[in-house]
Amino acid sequence: MIPYGRQSISAADKAAVLAVLDSDWLTQGPAVPQFETAAAALCDAPHAVAVSSGTAALHLACLALGIGPGDRVWTSPITFVASANCARYCGADVDFVDVEPDSVNLDPRCLADKLHAARRDGTLPKLVIPVHFAGRCCDMEAIGELSQEFGFHVVEDACHAFGAEDGQGDRVGACRHSDIAVTSFHPVKMVTTGEGGLLTTRAAALAERLARLRSHGIVRDPKDMGGEPDGPWYYEQIELGYNYRMTDLQAALGSSQLKRLPQFLAQRRQLVGRYRELLATLPATLPAAGADDASAWHLFVVRVAAARRRAVFEALRAAGIGVNVHYIPVHLQPDYRRLGFVPGMFPEAERYYRETITLPLFPELTEDAQSQVAAALAEALQ
Ligand SMILES: *Cc1c(COP(=O)(O)O)cnc(C)c1O
Repeated sequence: MIPYGRQSISAADKAAVLAVLDSDWLTQGPAVPQFETAAAALCDAPHAVAVSSGTAALHLACLALGIGPGDRVWTSPITFVASANCARYCGADVDFVDVEPDSVNLDPRCLADKLHAARRDGTLPKLVIPVHFAGRCCDMEAIGELSQEFGFHVVEDACHAFGAEDGQGDRVGACRHSDIAVTSFHPVKMVTTGEGGLLTTRAAALAERLARLRSHGIVRDPKDMGGEPDGPWYYEQIELGYNYRMTDLQAALGSSQLKRLPQFLAQRRQLVGRYRELLATLPATLPAAGADDASAWHLFVVRVAAARRRAVFEALRAAGIGVNVHYIPVHLQPDYRRLGFVPGMFPEAERYYRETITLPLFPELTEDAQSQVAAALAEALQ
């Protein structure tokens, strides 16, 4: 089976992990701040905080921005469930904003309409979490302007878009129009640490708080304590935090993978160019062009007639192609329907869901395997 996504692990990656096993630290030691410094530079952000997963990063982002019971958090329905669950961990209420038909990103026009209605009703959100779907950056300038006008925070879910640009020359993660950007290092993402995540921000105070919440809410520097230390052993828990630390094993792998990111991006973009040629004449809608050199291309999704999607999907799986579907709209999950969401609420997202199939795309996908995917899709669509 050709998978839809797969990590690429080199001899240098393995050596980096083995070197940590021979060192004095296994969990958060010197490799974590080294990885954070390199990742921050890559994102063109002054601060980066590494954590145990993208989901942990989303949770901490909500906590650090003060999200709590009674607050409203809005995100895209076409995302992994974690983009919405993070708000519920904090006791907040989740709602969704429909997506653009072409980019499948949160639609700034739908957002503006919903904000005007919410202002009339006194139900404005405290936080909006746009998701850079498939690796293509949302219209962050438009979302940033709305955040100024309506006074909400912005956390970018950049789990698909590490290494991408925003289309205006800025790196995703630079946070020019957001408070925090979050990414994931799960094996199918742009670079991997096994499990892992990262937050970037321009605000020093937020970075400090995120680092504290990552490790139980504990401080060791006397300047951060409420009183005098009892002695050199002393630490204080000054708020409720978690153990969301990244290990040195993971961080060393991450630093090694970061060096390979430019090559990964080039390989993904080249494969996308080749898919565009191979699939040009098929009765399928390819991802909207125009951002091909800026997107990180986490996913390559095609859309087919809704009535044929299931048969095409099953034919591809039968042909050994590990196609997938990204995503089932979050508001249609049983655990969200329990909260009152029903089909029809976000029509563009639901239309997209009925038509979409994710084709294999990852740096080590060979041209032969890619040709096999294209041939199988052509056959299935006949
Ligand atoms: C992968 C992913 C997450 C969660 O990241 P984990 O590291 O798996 O916890 C969140 N949001 C999106 C959009 C993702 O793709």
